[in-house]
Amino acid sequence: MSVKMPPIDEALMTHREEIVAALRRIVPGEGVIDGEREMRPFESDGLTAYRQLPMVVVLPSTTQQVSDVLRYCHEHNIKVVPRGAGTSLSGGALPLGDGVLLGLSKFSRIREIDFENRVAVVEPGVTNLGISNAVAHRGFYYAPDPSSQIACTIGGNIAENSGGVHCLKYGMTTNNVLGLEMVLMTGEIVRIGGRHLDSGGYDLLGVITGSEGLLGVVTEITVRILKKPETARAVLIGFPTSEDAGACVGRIIGAGIIPGGMEMMDRPAIHAVEEFAHAGYPLDVEALLIVELDGGKAEVDHLIDRVEAIARECKASTCRVSQNEDERLLFWAGRKAAFPAVGRISPDYYCMDGTIPRAALPLVLSRMREMSEKYGLQVANVFHAGDGNLHPLILYDANVPGELDKAEAFGSDILRLCVEVGGVLTGEHGVGVEKRDLMPEMFSEIDLNQQQRLKCAFDAQGLLNPGKVFPTLHRCAELGRMHVRAGKVAFPDIPRF
Ligand SMILES: Cc1cc2nc3c(=O)[nH]c(=O)nc-3n(C[C@H](O)[C@H](O)[C@H](O)COP(=O)(O)OP(=O)(O)OC[C@H]3O[C@@H](n4cnc5c(N)ncnc54)[C@H](O)[C@@H]3O)c2cc1C
Repeated sequence: MSVKMPPIDEALMTHREEIVAALRRIVPGEGVIDGEREMRPFESDGLTAYRQLPMVVVLPSTTQQVSDVLRYCHEHNIKVVPRGAGTSLSGGALPLGDGVLLGLSKFSRIREIDFENRVAVVEPGVTNLGISNAVAHRGFYYAPDPSSQIACTIGGNIAENSGGVHCLKYGMTTNNVLGLEMVLMTGEIVRIGGRHLDSGGYDLLGVITGSEGLLGVVTEITVRILKKPETARAVLIGFPTSEDAGACVGRIIGAGIIPGGMEMMDRPAIHAVEEFAHAGYPLDVEALLIVELDGGKAEVDHLIDRVEAIARECKASTCRVSQNEDERLLFWAGRKAAFPAVGRISPDYYCMDGTIPRAALPLVLSRMREMSEKYGLQVANVFHAGDGNLHPLILYDANVPGELDKAEAFGSDILRLCVEVGGVLTGEHGVGVEKRDLMPEMFSEIDLNQQQRLKCAFDAQGLLNPGKVFPTLHRCAELGRMHVRAGKVAFPDIPRF
């Protein structure tokens, strides 16, 4: 584990028994877990190289319980890490040894479905797919669709501003959320937004979506639901080089076509997926695009013809259009199974997430190949190509001494490259602990301090999910008085972890 976490407050830990007893009074029954063996399932999230048992796990089932737990922790200076399903790939839900792990899994109810206003009001522990399933009988769905959608929760999606295949056309989580109920670290319960399209004042929904559990605990969400398009068809397009595939992505978007989804895989990913999912992917190509067109039938047929013509101009070697719904779903089943498929060909893999301007794709791919040679580690690439969102999967073996460190260094170089070409450190997986120490690659000290001032406005004691996102720990009072001159940090003695 190369990223340092805040040191454990040993003085606080001497009061562990009283803290657990107090939390049991707030959440009686099985809602408080303090046995070492029972807490093991919570020690890590999707970033499995990092693990740490929490001081105690608390599983409330009402907003009032969340409020009482947070108020108690605030009064006793106890850190809190919110957790949904624990599928975060950036370590956002990694527990703290002296902190409460606040699991939202019991918040699993759909509170209301309002087809007339096209919204669903749900609790944060409902899975992403659970929302679509709940409204499917009337032909509706919830558009953002992370590959982890059978497991990940909408609360986690809000915290990470999660994306998926359909976000190119229908927007990320932030574009599909209308209202929230959230509990602040002080225990105060606030409501932001509602069923309406816009609220007066600052766009606090935008601030909270993607805030990685640092500002408050979300206890209710109002999401937009959409009517399913009349038709959707997918095209599998194979290319002799990744550069040709990258160019085709730009040409399709440049022609004014916004596909429902546009995903790309390179040769190692195609082969791993085909062996696992038998989706009918061509094996004699270097890169594969899956382009989905949706809408009215005539429109979709017309767009398919245009996409096929563009693909031919971009030197596509194969082009196959789905002929029925089963085949379309099969094309996507392969893509959605890409991570587990790669998991079969390597003992371990490290999934990176960065975003670049689409035009930089060929350059970034060729630089990644050089890095792969330099580090002696293979990489399989899966992209949300339309969004320029890269997911290089770095293959390594954690049992070989030094390989994890090499994989992490390789991943950091990829992210630096993303920033260098005008992109950003994350597309949808968040910063968490994974990219925390790379934040200065993208933001100046002044930027980071301004972002922390916002955090201070919600959580002045810095008790919610500390050690995530920000590389430097500041006390809010000091930030308030801070003057940064010529980029020099005013309080060099404040600990960095
Ligand atoms: C196989 C696989 C595929 C994936 N594919 C995608 C993908 O296609 N697109 C994508 O965007 N992500 C993807 N992910 C990443 C992950 O699924 C998402 O980040 C997801 O949103 C996390 O949801 P969760 O419920 O598991 O949250 P957790 O992992 O439990 O938590 C994530 C963050 O949210 C915070 N949090 C959780 N609940 C709340 C709450 N109620 N209030 C406040 N903060 C909260 C936590 O503190 C943490 O910081 C994938 C992960 C895996 C393992």
